[in-house]
Amino acid sequence: MAERSQTAPEAGNLGRVDQVSEFEYDLFIRPDTCNPRFRVWFNFTVENVKESQRVIFNIVNFSKTKSLYRDGMAPMVKSTSRPKWQRLPPKNVYYYRCPDHRKNYVMSFAFCFDREEDIYQFAYCYPYTYTRFQHYLDSLQKRNMDYFFREQLGQSVQQRQLDLLTITSPENLREGAEQKVVFITGRVHPGETPSSFVCQGIIDFLISQHPVARVLREHLVFKIAPMLNPDGVYLGNYRCSLMGFDLNRHWLDPSPWAHPTLHGVKQLIVQMYNDPKTSLEFYIDIHAHSTMMNGFMYGNIFEDEERFQRQAIFPKLLCQNAEDFSYSSTSFNRDAVKAGTGRRFLGGLLDHTSYCYTLEVSFYSYIIGGTTAAVPYTEEAYMKLGRNVARTFLDYYRLNPMVEKVAIPMPRLRKEKPPPYKCPLLRGSASNYPNGKGDKKSSVNHRDPSNSF
Ligand SMILES: [Zn+2]
Repeated sequence: MAERSQTAPEAGNLGRVDQVSEFEYDLFIRPDTCNPRFRVWFNFTVENVKESQRVIFNIVNFSKTKSLYRDGMAPMVKSTSRPKWQRLPPKNVYYYRCPDHRKNYVMSFAFCFDREEDIYQFAYCYPYTYTRFQHYLDSLQKRNMDYFFREQLGQSVQQRQLDLLTITSPENLREGAEQKVVFITGRVHPGETPSSFVCQGIIDFLISQHPVARVLREHLVFKIAPMLNPDGVYLGNYRCSLMGFDLNRHWLDPSPWAHPTLHGVKQLIVQMYNDPKTSLEFYIDIHAHSTMMNGFMYGNIFEDEERFQRQAIFPKLLCQNAEDFSYSSTSFNRDAVKAGTGRRFLGGLLDHTSYCYTLEVSFYSYIIGGTTAAVPYTEEAYMKLGRNVARTFLDYYRLNPMVEKVAIPMPRLRKEKPPPYKCPLLRGSASNYPNGKGDKKSSVNHRDPSNSF
């Protein structure tokens, strides 16, 4: 019998579990803290399993209807003996309107447990926890790089760190030096874990010895607040902070007690804007998207046609550098519903030489131009998008001639293929299931999504 782990993982999210038959469970996502509207992120462990035990999990209370599950997305899995996250095969995943659950959209997946001693973990997307992030920053700090600085810009409601990184050559931080600043933020929406991988890709590239990174550090000051909502990340929320606020709708008037991390970042940006020695040139807020493929951007609409045109340059250049970035999915808008976002607020505040974007990346996959096959994102692919974002500043500022013509060999990536999980087909005859006689068959078949399509 599969049992839920007594010890939830960090950023774990699982509410109620109903066993509906010997081999089938209904799982309820726990809504965001203080905000029942958002139910997307899940992350839970299963232990005390039996070898060859086949189970169907139904996640029955998603708050969204449109989903990349329709396009082949599948939950992630890892286990004690196979600690690298893998996506389940999409053929074992179904997404459909279920009459048993008030016609809510249900995602069902079949799984065959194969090692009794393993603890299995399932998640919506690759987790990236607050603890992992803190360890990562600690490891960077220990390297004592003279162009990397970490400070605590503030604290969350639950006293977690709001980290601010500054990456630039020390000469740019001399008293009175003029600064061209690129400001980057991430994880304002805590369930959007790809944001952290992209952000880490940017950081890793900028602190590297790559000649492009060296030129970028000489010319620009990168200010990065990679985790704007540390409480939400820790708690396993999808969209909100501890107190149930979507922080990316509160840029107009953040409160120091209700939205302290947002308040801290906004204060710093306004202070930089008012400093005549500082030119805040870019603001990029990194998110993940639950219904779109690829990486893409949202920008603003300006009355000034020339400014509007210039705003398209960065995403066009990024599109040339990153095969997973789509310029055609990039759009510019001034929807009322987005008025409290960082991109919109800062687009209105900062002067005409500044550009503010939301960088979105799919929770699932990208399609390379000229092909139709969706390539699922890996952690490494998200980080690569981050490296390409960083690299694009070289093109934007036309710094290419500055790059020394030294060929630095890129490290080869170790490609290892972990042993696959055995997964039974969810669709099909009752013989796929243990004891799959007629009585069980009927309970499976009325959930069979083939009836719903
Ligand atoms: Zn978001």
